[in-house]
Amino acid sequence: MVKITDTLAAGGHVISFEFFPPRTDQAMATLQQTLVDLEPLRPSFVSVTYGAGGTTRERTHEIVVRINRETRMTAMAHLTCAAHTVAELEEIVAHYRDAGVENILALGGDPPRDLELPEGELRYAVELVRLVRRSGDFAVGVAVHPEPHPRSPTIEDDRRHSAEKLAEADFAITQFFFDADHYFGLVQALRGHDVTKPVIPGIMPVLSIAGTKRMAEMQGSEFPDWYMEKLRPYEDDPEAVRRIGIEQATSLCRELLDGGAPGLHFYTLNRSTATREIHANLGLS
Ligand SMILES: Cc1cc2nc3c(=O)[nH]c(=O)nc-3n(C[C@H](O)[C@H](O)[C@H](O)COP(=O)(O)OP(=O)(O)OC[C@H]3O[C@@H](n4cnc5c(N)ncnc54)[C@H](O)[C@@H]3O)c2cc1C
Repeated sequence: MVKITDTLAAGGHVISFEFFPPRTDQAMATLQQTLVDLEPLRPSFVSVTYGAGGTTRERTHEIVVRINRETRMTAMAHLTCAAHTVAELEEIVAHYRDAGVENILALGGDPPRDLELPEGELRYAVELVRLVRRSGDFAVGVAVHPEPHPRSPTIEDDRRHSAEKLAEADFAITQFFFDADHYFGLVQALRGHDVTKPVIPGIMPVLSIAGTKRMAEMQGSEFPDWYMEKLRPYEDDPEAVRRIGIEQATSLCRELLDGGAPGLHFYTLNRSTATREIHANLGLS
C-alpha cells in the first residue's frame, strides 16, 4: 500500500481508476473481473465511492480493504459527511486506520432525495478533511468542480471554497467535464488563491448519449452542443457513439496532460474496456 502523497511527490503522471460498490453478487463478479483486467495497467491508485446515506456504505470499506490486501493496487476510500454524526465519521475513519488504509477522499456527498435522512453534523467537506487529519496520518484528497458545483451561487464562490478546502487537503480530483478549458480555468483560479496542490482531472468517456446526458445533469456538468452535434448523426448507432466517445476522451486526456495536468482519474463505472482503450491510445502502458 502506498500513500498517494508519496506517489504525487515522486513525479510522473498519476493514473487512477474509480469504482463503486456493487449492489448484487452478479455486479460484484463484474467488478472483480474489472479489477483483474485493470491491474496489469499498474494504476497509481484506485478508489471506491461511498453511497451517502445509501445501503452500500459498509461495502466501500470491505472492497477497499480487500483491494489493498489481495492485489498489488493501492485503494483509496471515498467518505462523505452527509447524514452522519461526527462520532460515526470518527468511527469509520478509525476503522480504516486500523485496517491500514492510508488514503481517504473527503467529500460532502449527495444523499438520495427519496430517503429521509438526518442532516449530518458536518456541513461541508472541508470539515471532514479536518476530522480525517486529526484521526490519523492519512493522505487526504477532495473533490473539485470545474464547471462549478451546481449548488454554488456563483463560480467565484465555488472557486474560493474549493481553494480553502484544497489548501487543507493534499490533492484534488475533479468532477468530469468535456472541455479542457473548464479544467484549466479551475486550476488557474486556484492558483489565483495561492493554491498549487495537484488537481487530477476526472475523465468519463461518452459511451452512450442517454447515459451521459443523465449523469451530466446530475453532476452539473455540461454536455456541450459541439459534442452533441458530433454525435447526432449516430444517435441510432451505439457502436459509432462509443467509438467517437473513446476518440474524444483520448484527445481530451492528451490536451490535459500536454497542458500540465498531473495525471488522469478515470470514472470506470466498474467496466474495464473503455479505460483500457484510452490508456492504450495514450501509450501509457
Ligand atoms: C472525484 C469525485 C468523487 C466523488 N465521490 C462521491 C462519493 O463517493 N459519494 C457521493 O455521494 N458523492 C461523491 N461525489 C459527489 C460529491 O459528493 C457532490 O458533488 C457533492 O454535492 C459535493 O461534494 P464536495 O465534496 O465538493 O462538497 P463541499 O466541498 O462541501 O461543497 C458543496 C457545496 O458547498 C459549497 N461550500 C463549500 N464550503 C463552503 C463554505 N465554507 N461556505 C459556503 N459554501 C461552501 C461549495 O462551493 C459547493 O457548492 C464525488 C465527486 C467527485 C468530483
